[in-house]
Amino acid sequence: MRKLTGKGQSLDTPRFPLTRLHDEKVSPVTTAVMPTYGRADLAFERGEGPYLFATNGRRYLDFCGGIAVDVLGHAHPHLVEALRAQAGKLWHVSNLYRIPEQERLAERLAATSFADTMFFCNSGAEAVEGGLKLCRKYHSANGHPERWRVITCTGSFHGRTLATIAAAGNEKHLAGFGPKYDGFDMVPFGNLNILRTSITPETAAILVEPIQGEGGVHPADMDYMRGLRKVADEFGLLLFFDEVQCGIGRTGKLWAHQWAGIAPDVMAIAKGLGGGFPVGCFMATAEAAKGMTPGTHGSTFGGNPLAMSVANAVLDVLLADGFLDHVGRVGKYLRSRLDDLAKRHPAVFKEARGVGLMQGLVCVPECGKVVSRLYEEGMLTVVAGDNVVRLLPPLIIEESHVDEAIACLDRAAAALTPAG
Ligand SMILES: *Cc1c(COP(=O)(O)O)cnc(C)c1O
Repeated sequence: MRKLTGKGQSLDTPRFPLTRLHDEKVSPVTTAVMPTYGRADLAFERGEGPYLFATNGRRYLDFCGGIAVDVLGHAHPHLVEALRAQAGKLWHVSNLYRIPEQERLAERLAATSFADTMFFCNSGAEAVEGGLKLCRKYHSANGHPERWRVITCTGSFHGRTLATIAAAGNEKHLAGFGPKYDGFDMVPFGNLNILRTSITPETAAILVEPIQGEGGVHPADMDYMRGLRKVADEFGLLLFFDEVQCGIGRTGKLWAHQWAGIAPDVMAIAKGLGGGFPVGCFMATAEAAKGMTPGTHGSTFGGNPLAMSVANAVLDVLLADGFLDHVGRVGKYLRSRLDDLAKRHPAVFKEARGVGLMQGLVCVPECGKVVSRLYEEGMLTVVAGDNVVRLLPPLIIEESHVDEAIACLDRAAAALTPAG
């Protein structure tokens, strides 16, 4: 086997286990990378549109999309050109100065959303955490510093910082990291009555994913979304949507909450925003952001010229005439094909659910087995909670790529169907 590590260690000397998702019989391999991920024994050297080319010589259809990040697929010419052009001019200067590319991106996001003002950072967790700070600061600026608690939902995911693991309340993510960071009150996702009764004089905001991603691709229903807006208004709370995964065009609208015809006061975005370049952002109405005055928040890297140029290039494509309609159309096609697939293979798939190009297949066998089997068929997907296989393809895919994916899924399902 080829050596990837220095110090004379070969890949098959066990040190930390590397899970071989697609072949559990093979022994674990060595790596100096901290073993916090269950990685498949696959590495890629090149990408082109919705395809990835692995070091094993195989081509894979990428319906994982870097977990909803690679919205324009791999090596999109417009993004490559934007990165190249900016890389030769200026990478980083710090937020001590005006950054024209940052101002331009902020203006464009403002023009295409409910928000008036943006703070740029580098990841989803940072965006959520910044948004939480904004919510607290808003009430403090209004003379109510005692309003600092945030209502969050079961099954949610908001990142892996101390505050965001507390917000989501997933015991697996919290275990061993000391006392859970205070300030969050959890209610069942989708239940407005319990949410109402959980509001106290200390409540500042409600934080919800319009479509839960990591939790298992659970879209909130439209009445629930509108109910959240009403409750927030009634009690003077800020409504904070985490669209880190479901935003940036994934559902066929730029923002997932737009399907419900309502708007939040605060929103966190990241994943798709840089099309593979790390960029996050929390955005708010001018009113909600009124506490965020000079000195209240900062980030060294956030919003640097390189990141902003790439994110602007992503928006060039997303906002082009007809692009979101394309996502909506291909998303509908994918969903109808997934519904048929589930009907053909009831021993493997219970149902499909999701919106646009954010779809989940609820599995009968353990979902990791399905993902592993799909590697053999040349297709990449990703697991989610509730035994779901998630499909998060680049938004540039065509119906023909959907057909190809369905063929892979059909073969994997046939292989996984118990005999007799
Ligand atoms: C991925 C994700 C995050 C965290 O983003 P990171 O960039 O990994 O910090 C937060 N919220 C949601 C809904 C996500 O899907």
